[in-house]
Amino acid sequence: TNFKELGLITPLLDRLTELKYQQPTPIQAQAIPTVLAGRDLIAGANTGSGKTATFALPLLQKIYEQSILSKKLSTTKTNVKSGNYVAGLILVPTRELAKQIADSIKSYAQHFNGEIKTLAVFGGVSVNTQMLALRGGTDILVATPGRLLDLISSNAIKLDLVSTLILDEADRMLSLGFTEELTKLLKLTPNKKQTLLFSATFPEQVQDLTKTLLTNPVEIQL
Ligand code: AMP
Repeated sequence: TNFKELGLITPLLDRLTELKYQQPTPIQAQAIPTVLAGRDLIAGANTGSGKTATFALPLLQKIYEQSILSKKLSTTKTNVKSGNYVAGLILVPTRELAKQIADSIKSYAQHFNGEIKTLAVFGGVSVNTQMLALRGGTDILVATPGRLLDLISSNAIKLDLVSTLILDEADRMLSLGFTEELTKLLKLTPNKKQTLLFSATFPEQVQDLTKTLLTNPVEIQL
């Protein structure tokens, strides 16, 4: 299979050609059509499997299409994207991973010509810069749980317009003690959304999370 057969659109295919991605990795071939179809997903995947592109490419496509659609529909000057919205939320355990994923997404989005705003927020640095960057909202946000909760408390961001939620390295997030933060955050997202969960291992804690969080998910184990 090639990337085109998976259902990806031209701005993404052109970028993948530039990046010299010749063919999808096994997890990409299995998961991308599922994600594009709007299904929830549980994927057992390690770093190096190409998992970032597995969720980033269909997420970008979905958000790009939503963004085009909302522009067509808004006949008045009022924008559907209100103030401090976020459409695609990716939760990760560490700041390094947050930065790395945001950089990959920005790279994949190059041919959307600035149409999609992507930001990373994480602890250990000044919160003010992140608050300023979040003004006007963001299409995609990559965040560590603690800092995201802080930003929500100070009204810098709201989760009620999240249409896609992605948990990356879910096992690490839980083992690093983010369970309470995660529970709080998940309650702030809408019930109706697409959820994708990636984890290297599936201990009981992760299994419990998948049961409460995912609806009729497709499961992929490599
Ligand atoms: P990840 O598992 O997401 O950390 O990706 C591992 C590395 O593989 C990253 O450097 C990606 O840029 C690269 N990569 C991901 N998918 C592909 C692909 N289909 N072809 C070639 N390289 C890829």
